[in-house]
Amino acid sequence: MKDSILHKGKRKQLIEELRSKGVRNEQVLDAMMLVPRHVFFDIALENHAYEDKAFPIDAGQTISQPYTVAVQSSLLNVQKYDRILEIGTGSGYQAAVLCRMGAQVFSIERQKKLFFTTKNILQKLHIHTQLFLGDGFKGLPQFAPFDKILITAAAPFIPRTLLNQLKINGLLVVPYGEGNTQKMIRITKISETEFEQEEHGNFSFVPMLKGIQE
Ligand code: SAH
Repeated sequence: MKDSILHKGKRKQLIEELRSKGVRNEQVLDAMMLVPRHVFFDIALENHAYEDKAFPIDAGQTISQPYTVAVQSSLLNVQKYDRILEIGTGSGYQAAVLCRMGAQVFSIERQKKLFFTTKNILQKLHIHTQLFLGDGFKGLPQFAPFDKILITAAAPFIPRTLLNQLKINGLLVVPYGEGNTQKMIRITKISETEFEQEEHGNFSFVPMLKGIQE
């Protein structure tokens, strides 16, 4: 769990790279400067932690590309103490960034092994998130409503269950679509029955799948 001057230097460079790619939200960039991304990596890949690329983690899943994390975090317009539900904890990196932005993070992962590995890493970093092993399509009705919901896997459709768990004026950010690329969609809940939708470019995610994987 060492975070050396070298790590911090590489992290600073990554932040400058994100800035040059158009990320403008200083709150997001500050949080990404605080979270040691290398800690979420396999030791063999640690050297690559500060490249702006997605990388493989446990269970055939990926840690999202820093640029993608920056875009999704910016689209959420995070306010301190926001209750945010994340679907697809994965490595835990995105959850850690939202937490460092002052949000109250609830996150669901469907892969059992990954759930336990990530829980351990976040605990060691003293990042306080509420993690759940479960099926993100169902959300967390017992903790709803949420100010924001972030889906970090490619959704084949926009789950109505999740929209129901969003506050009025709440935001849901989701990479939508099947196949190799998805459209980043931001939905604003205007009322219980009215929603507004915007598109924010193309991205590539692993699929959102049903059920728990033992
Ligand atoms: N936010 C992660 C990105 C991980 S990749 C990060 O920062 O690293 C997407 C993750 O979503 C994978 O770990 C995958 O297992 C998980 N996932 C896919 N479908 C899911 C579902 N229905 N419920 C919960 N997690 C899901």
